[in-house]
Amino acid sequence: MSVTVSRTDASDTAPTGLDLPRTTEAILAADGHLVQSWADLNGLKKPGARTAIVAAKGTMVRDSDGNDLIDGIGGLWCVNVGHGRREIIDAIAQQLSTLDFYSTFYTFTHPAAAALAQKLATLAPGSLNRVHFSNSGSVANDGAVRILHHYYERLGRRTKKLVLSRHGAYHGSTYLSIAMTTPPYSKGWSKAEGIVHHLKKPHYWREGADMTEAEFLDALIEDMRTQIEHLGAENIACFIGEPIMGAGGVIVPPAGYHKRVQELCAHYDIKFVADEVVTAFGRLGHFFASEAVFDTQPDMITVAKGITSGYQPLAATLMTDEIHEVISGPDGVFTHGMTYAGHPAAAAAGLANIALMEAEHIPERVRVTGKLFENTLRSLGDIDIVGEVRGSHFMMGIEFVRDKASKALFPEALNIGMLVARKAQEKGLIARPLGHILILSPPLVLTEVEIARIGSILRDSILEVMRDLP
Ligand code: PLP
Repeated sequence: MSVTVSRTDASDTAPTGLDLPRTTEAILAADGHLVQSWADLNGLKKPGARTAIVAAKGTMVRDSDGNDLIDGIGGLWCVNVGHGRREIIDAIAQQLSTLDFYSTFYTFTHPAAAALAQKLATLAPGSLNRVHFSNSGSVANDGAVRILHHYYERLGRRTKKLVLSRHGAYHGSTYLSIAMTTPPYSKGWSKAEGIVHHLKKPHYWREGADMTEAEFLDALIEDMRTQIEHLGAENIACFIGEPIMGAGGVIVPPAGYHKRVQELCAHYDIKFVADEVVTAFGRLGHFFASEAVFDTQPDMITVAKGITSGYQPLAATLMTDEIHEVISGPDGVFTHGMTYAGHPAAAAAGLANIALMEAEHIPERVRVTGKLFENTLRSLGDIDIVGEVRGSHFMMGIEFVRDKASKALFPEALNIGMLVARKAQEKGLIARPLGHILILSPPLVLTEVEIARIGSILRDSILEVMRDLP
């Protein structure tokens, strides 16, 4: 086979930018080749099933038909400082023109990764002073477990391999992180079996039966103790948990839950890993939620998403000095890492993003505007088909029910969350359906006017869907 390479000198042609499809038809024709993520691939074959987003600014995105929509999901829980921030874009461009790429493998490092690691160490709680970069939350979580396995190998405690997760958790999509996740997400897929064990879902409203919240909490802790005794603490490496479960339906555990879980972990010598992929970088009003909101000192914290506000793919696994001390001992090499981890452009984006959050006091502002957002959504609780509005600040979920008293759900096939999300999108708001739940995780820079607008779009959308129910 002969291949003809045609070469065009940069000097021959003026820069034309990317030659991207512009019309809706052209985008969707090109899109036919794109295998989308977390999608009903069969459903996507229907005309009009997809939305092509072509531009974004602030809290708004524009679709390929020219509709401007409020980005009620912040890209995907990640565009914390809003779209199109010059400070981050310029920092990326400047970094790329100075050093486009170098890895953090072997003996190499570069200024942006080093500076971001140092900055994270100053922001993180306790002695979480060591940072290993990767490219996605899934890989950061996978990495946390790999690193702990390696840590215990070095300590000669080779049986400590198992992971405690929870029903309802979402920790990602790699082979191990999907095993730490639970149905419906892992339904129909094979996954790493045997390593992960799931504790009870800490959702009082659905699972609390006739217990008080305090009794429910005791039952959760007892379940954990029983599982640890059953599996043997000498076989368990870590517990992993999101401070507030996100994609599992925005589940806020009973007050004091994480602290008691951490105490149990400490008692049995099990590492406590906080998955702060969603909760870190301001969404709950603090750079990290573990200590400031949940009064815990994890042995590891994983982050992604808001670390760059989504402008570049970046994630990190933060570990204590104690863990680092063991894995950096004299016996052997740390054989873990990805080529693009801590990429200069991503690290520069992270630094600029954090600088911007600090300069504009975004976490502090979220303590006010996020509470307003939370209260605005909670006020939808008076609607007949709204069973529970839950979450905190800019991390909220609305659960729909057919019957408020019994909490009975609508038939799955009705896809109630999708019906409301479609209606909201017609009215100018993107929200994320998840079966019978609707999720909102907007940029953290929403104004009071935008918050009120989201509230009224949601109210109108839910009422219209309710009126048209079969
Ligand atoms: N952990 C949590 C809590 C998440 O919400 C997600 C993604 O939504 C992940 C991990 C996985 O992150 P990523 O999609 O960047 O791999």
